[in-house]
Amino acid sequence: MVPVNLGPRSYQVRIGAGLSKQVAIELGNPGSALVVSDTNVAPLAAENLTQQLAEAGWNVRLAVQPAGETAKSLREIEKLYDQLIAMQADRSTHVIAVGGGVVGDAAGFAAATYARGLPFIQVPTTLLAAVDSSVGGKVGVNLPAAKNIVGAFHQPKAVFIDTDLLATLPPREFAAGMAEVVKYGMILDESFFDWLEAEQPKIQSHDPTFLARIIQRSCELKAQVVEADEFETTGLRAVLNFGHTFGHAYEALAKYGTLLHGEAVSIGMIDAATLACQLGRIPEEVVSRLTKLLQSFQLPVSLPSGMKLDPQQIIATMRLDKKSVGGKLRLILPTRIGHVESVRDVSEELVLKTVARHG
Ligand code: NAD
Ligand code: ZN
Repeated sequence: MVPVNLGPRSYQVRIGAGLSKQVAIELGNPGSALVVSDTNVAPLAAENLTQQLAEAGWNVRLAVQPAGETAKSLREIEKLYDQLIAMQADRSTHVIAVGGGVVGDAAGFAAATYARGLPFIQVPTTLLAAVDSSVGGKVGVNLPAAKNIVGAFHQPKAVFIDTDLLATLPPREFAAGMAEVVKYGMILDESFFDWLEAEQPKIQSHDPTFLARIIQRSCELKAQVVEADEFETTGLRAVLNFGHTFGHAYEALAKYGTLLHGEAVSIGMIDAATLACQLGRIPEEVVSRLTKLLQSFQLPVSLPSGMKLDPQQIIATMRLDKKSVGGKLRLILPTRIGHVESVRDVSEELVLKTVARHG
């Protein structure tokens, strides 16, 4: 169990095998709930959960969104609002997201905005959602012009991570989640990074004990950052962006879907480390350890050979990232394994040189 201490918005992240079977018991007194899932996850998990709640006396509906990023659109959110209207939802109606980060972000956004806020429960079913998006309260949708540009901070009331549900995850999706796990080691916890290196074979074989441990530690580290900067006002939360300024640009330019988010972040972390090395901030050895660890989890460390992106366009896209300030490039760069710093005004020439490695 990982507590997330945010005063009146505090909650627990529970982690365990078979946990999704206990959601109805854990939630206590039956009320009404909208379970939100996608076409892949509904038959694997959300239908069971809906039935479990109905048997426990809940007035429950299941909304199934199309799988993939398109579910994070205002059009799909409107459909969730329609379901809430149809079930005569009130401020006690729970919204329960059962799925990956897409379902979590979309359901969470509906929960944040309907009637100015409904109780929200996360049941993440991808590794990325378990270690990252289900904790921290960022919810939102995309506009055609920009990803994650419309959103809110809306913390869940509880997060239930059932490690059994990850068994059906495609290997590429598992690897994408591992990129965020490696990121936590790089930005905050050297001994976790060392442990990932040492136990890589067990993690890669999805040993349940090791899976639970990586999720537990990742959630603890994410909670620590969110507790320090819940609303992203002090700049502390920005450490989570390590690898993301490069990564978001690749995701956008490669057209969403070609590169998974975690894959783009994996490449972006190597870019950031390479740049830090060129600045003399870290020794070459750090870049090579990071490279080796990411590759051992089947993650890419440079853009795929068929994907030729114009370096100037990469930089222009990085400047558009909503976390850049006044068009200035601000990057999260490692100072060693387990520690990063926010560096303002990184020279464009150096960034160009870094991205040119993909040519
Ligand atoms: P996703 O939700 O699209 O899931 C990936 C794919 O796996 C989908 O096809 C899904 O149907 C399928 N799937 C999910 N669980 C499965 C299971 N158990 N077995 C088999 N298939 C399963 O993608 P994701 O990587 O989980 O999330 C990406 C989204 O998360 C992006 O939109 C990103 O912006 C968002 N995100 C949000 C935050 C945050 O803090 N809110 C943080 C990181 C990422
Ligand atoms: Zn990420």
